[in-house]
Amino acid sequence: MDRLRPPRPDLEDLVPYDAKDIDAEVYLHANENPSDLPGEVLDKISERIRSVGFNRYPDPLANDLRALIAEANGLEAGNVLVGNGGDELIFDLLLAWGGPGRTMLDLPPTFTMYAIDAKVTGTQVVSIPRRAGFSVDEEAVLDRVGEGDIDVVVVSHPNNPTGTLTPETFLIDLLRATDALVLVDEAYFEFSRHTMRPHMERHPNLVILRTFSKAFSLAGLRVGYLLANADVVRELTKVRQPFSVDRFSQMVARMVFRERAAFESQISDLIRQRDVLVDGLSQFDPVTVFPSEANFVLFRVPMASAVWRDLLHEHGVLIRDFSRAEGLEDCLRVTVGLPEQNARFLRAMEEILSARSAADHFGVAATASRHDKGE
Ligand code: PMP
Repeated sequence: MDRLRPPRPDLEDLVPYDAKDIDAEVYLHANENPSDLPGEVLDKISERIRSVGFNRYPDPLANDLRALIAEANGLEAGNVLVGNGGDELIFDLLLAWGGPGRTMLDLPPTFTMYAIDAKVTGTQVVSIPRRAGFSVDEEAVLDRVGEGDIDVVVVSHPNNPTGTLTPETFLIDLLRATDALVLVDEAYFEFSRHTMRPHMERHPNLVILRTFSKAFSLAGLRVGYLLANADVVRELTKVRQPFSVDRFSQMVARMVFRERAAFESQISDLIRQRDVLVDGLSQFDPVTVFPSEANFVLFRVPMASAVWRDLLHEHGVLIRDFSRAEGLEDCLRVTVGLPEQNARFLRAMEEILSARSAADHFGVAATASRHDKGE
């Protein structure tokens, strides 16, 4: 044959997730921990590297890691599932609870992987946009789940990219109001310090997602986990890829989890630095800053794309441009970095905005707009 049969037509307008992998001097775009693993942990990893057993398949369920996570959360191993990053577990949830003829309730603007995975799994999406200020439209959500046809609800908590934490009282109302699987995505839990874990016993439809990618500096390895009712975990084992978390990642994640207390002071520093970013950005007249409970800060600034480009091209600082996303017009998101990185970002913002206001004053185009013309 000299031709290829077309793929699934319903994927035609699906835009692949774009991780915006661009060269820069300072990376504040992906909500990663700005520091690599502590030296002692790296030393231990190199000591253990010869005993990993690279020729052998991994334990499919990462049982040793599972047991550690279960114990720390006062649960049984059967309540924990480890995945190739939280991303894989979101996909597994939609394979098992979504699919053709089934419906996911999404609360945009939010983490875009929910909608992408829904599309890939043939799950219908019902969206209830967040209100101005990005709080959940609680009444609309409770009314909608009351119709009885929602199979999965996804709540990013705190919400990426807005940083908003949803009130616990509302999440409890939601869990009471529906038998849909409610995914509370706590990817940024270590920064918000709020969890729905105490409500698991009462609500078998609650699933909590966490990751090693943010606070625990392991974005490069891909390890995430979920906490759920044992029946949910059993169901997910039907659809998951059996060997998705490799032996090396399991070994490192175990080590990091055991040493997690060592990350505490760094997490507290990042939370303090988040306030530095919020305060710094609030000083700029044209900027609106949204409060955040995560390790990133969303802000709105006129001509956001031009500011984003100047940050990268004139100052070497990469942040995330959401200005073309629905509900996030003129919004940029900056990840909390090390103090000197945050200071560099704030200095760059000051230069860009003051050059712009001087240009406005003299009636000439702002420097930022040069890039709009492709220069
Ligand atoms: N949930 C949310 C809200 C996220 O922001 C991310 C990472 N961007 C994830 C889940 C997935 O993280 P990972 O796959 O790295 O564990």
